[in-house]
Amino acid sequence: MSSKLRLSVVDEAFKRGPVYVKAPSERPSEYFGKFVFNKKKMYEYLPTEAYNKMCDVIDNGAPLDRSVADAVAEGMKQWAISLGVTHYTHWFQPLTEGTAEKHDGFVEHDGKGGMIEKFTGKLLIQQEPDASSFPSGGIRSTFEARGYTAWDPTSPVFVLGDTLMIPTVFIAYTGEALDYKVPLKKALLAVDKAATAVARYFNPEVRKVVSNLGWEQEYFLVDEALYAARPDMVMTGRTLMGHDSAKNQQMDDHYFGSIPSRVEEFMKDIEIQALELGIPCKTRHNEVAPNQFELAPIFEETNLAVDHNMLMMSLMKRVARKHGFRCLLHEKPFKGINGSGKHNNWSLSTDTGILLHAPGKTPMDNLRFVTFAVETLKAVLDHNGLLKASIMSASNAHRLGANEAPPAIISSFLGKNVTELLDIVESADLDSFLVEGKTSFKLDLPSIPELFIDNTDRNRTSPFAFTGNRFEFRAVGSEANCASAMLTLNAAVAEALNSFKSRVDALIAAGEKKEAAIIKVVREDIGYIKPIIFNGNGYGEEWKQEAVKRGLDCETSAPKIFDNYLSESSIRMFESTHVLSRHELEARNEIKWETYTKKIQIESRIFGDLCLNHIIPVVTRYQSMLIDNVHKVKDIFPADKADAISKENIIIIEKISKHESYIIEKVDAMIEARKVANRIASEREKAIAYHDTVAPLMEDIRYHVDKLETIVDDEAWPLPKYRELLFIR
Ligand code: ADP
Ligand code: MG
Repeated sequence: MSSKLRLSVVDEAFKRGPVYVKAPSERPSEYFGKFVFNKKKMYEYLPTEAYNKMCDVIDNGAPLDRSVADAVAEGMKQWAISLGVTHYTHWFQPLTEGTAEKHDGFVEHDGKGGMIEKFTGKLLIQQEPDASSFPSGGIRSTFEARGYTAWDPTSPVFVLGDTLMIPTVFIAYTGEALDYKVPLKKALLAVDKAATAVARYFNPEVRKVVSNLGWEQEYFLVDEALYAARPDMVMTGRTLMGHDSAKNQQMDDHYFGSIPSRVEEFMKDIEIQALELGIPCKTRHNEVAPNQFELAPIFEETNLAVDHNMLMMSLMKRVARKHGFRCLLHEKPFKGINGSGKHNNWSLSTDTGILLHAPGKTPMDNLRFVTFAVETLKAVLDHNGLLKASIMSASNAHRLGANEAPPAIISSFLGKNVTELLDIVESADLDSFLVEGKTSFKLDLPSIPELFIDNTDRNRTSPFAFTGNRFEFRAVGSEANCASAMLTLNAAVAEALNSFKSRVDALIAAGEKKEAAIIKVVREDIGYIKPIIFNGNGYGEEWKQEAVKRGLDCETSAPKIFDNYLSESSIRMFESTHVLSRHELEARNEIKWETYTKKIQIESRIFGDLCLNHIIPVVTRYQSMLIDNVHKVKDIFPADKADAISKENIIIIEKISKHESYIIEKVDAMIEARKVANRIASEREKAIAYHDTVAPLMEDIRYHVDKLETIVDDEAWPLPKYRELLFIR
């Protein structure tokens, strides 16, 4: 772009006003789920037998009977057509972080020269998309490139525009997972089984345990014209260069500030659409950084919540454009200000209540709480490196360990009350818990004040914080598919609960009373989980040293963090819970390393281009202007006077030369580093080379580009600056 263009797009962006959204005449409670084929619509559109079957499938995980599939498909089609729908698609989540879809029309020949709308059970249940270009990590070699999508009836079908969207899993011919949904569903099954068995110690009526997820999506909005003028943002979703704006977030005036009207209209628009799609949007606010915002629905069952987050992310991008914005989901679009995360609020609940509710009314409630909290922490401790791997990506790497977001070490904040509670359980005399001759037992624990649940004492620096009735996994990236973190956490908790159950059962078999057996095992685990509990400042330098001593994973290199997936303890955990096999894990890691490399490669290429053909030419022109001026000064003034006049300009000319030659030399070195890395055959080693040699050069060069931005004539600078990107609404 030319610098003239920059100034004109800034002008355009400044002038753009809100796009007003007309609120529906109905109330949100009335239009909620309008475009979802939920039970209410099933009841209306399906024959009784098919309706009952679907309820059994959704509520109890019963297998889907092919014989009813035709009736279900017909009902769906009727409902969709009533909304003007013409197409359907299997909607799936390949290992690309996004979703995929291929639309087909309902139309078929009617055999009489005309067309009819047709949709069968077969098409609903299974399809074979030509999906050979999705990452498979070698699971689906090209000679056997078949991949299948299969309907996931536990996540309801919905309508988006003119298309009936059918949530599906994506698997290889061999049955191996090619997506996030298959292992997620397996992990949810594993945690249901494991947690139900443990929950029955406390309440024999428990039939099912559900994993809940409430995500909080952070994002940035940038004016569309300015975005288009930044090739780095268009190509990579973030700015690769740009000097700090004089004002950024230092005044703390954006967080929870009043929402600008242009943004408010966008939020309104997206909330209406999300509610119509059955996403229970609830919270919206300004975030810490300028032009950063957050949106959060009420928590839902994890599989559904993941689908809703995927849908929400694509909706946000789409609706933003209508309002003249681009929605940035990248974890770190701007250097020097906060990045975006996606807190994953996680809990387990039974058909009888939330299992992680802070200590309850009866001693048994208390013991149940302590059991589930401690076993969750055991899972987090045993797999702290793996959990970090589950949230790691080339983009989230910018966030972790930078002093603004969870540190690159997984630990858990419990707060004073819960920590004390665990101490009491651990150190009290065991006999005092058990009252002779009674079926019940005594467990006098201080009750946690009600206030705690809405308490602000939540230690924002902790990557895995207990917040009253749930754990908040805060390290998840804004752009990520939550499934990656959720399948890992749920599977790990399932493993911990399985081990807990078998140890308790062994004690019971040896003659111990149930309560005593539970307390014994819990106490053992309270001692064991100590290293993962950290209530202090997660950003501090001391914590890093302390964490090393505690044996926590402190690796910061993303490609090496991925190794955690292939450690023996991870493989054992995933295989024992039937979530992923060793082969699947190996294949998925190939994809992770490859994706990492590609992301850095693309960034480095566009960065090199920007340096060499956007920045350097402009800078050279500006420098020539100064040189020209120095010559002219010499023409009219005597030498000593001319020298005095041109002194400052000569300093600038020299500065520019220094920065310029540094940039040119290092861009060459960066290209060379890429060439060397590209020759490496192993995906892991290649990713490490990109991490160790290419990425640091970009940071290094950027410093000089950003310096030049402060030297060169503002009118000549070719790229929109931070103050323009971040402060225009
Ligand atoms: P915060 O104050 O942490 O920013 P928000 O109100 O933005 O909180 O979001 C909290 C999220 O946690 C919401 O999605 C909310 O529904 C969810 N949540 C609340 N209780 C639970 C729970 N027991 N399990 C899972 N998620 C929960
Ligand atoms: Mg929030």
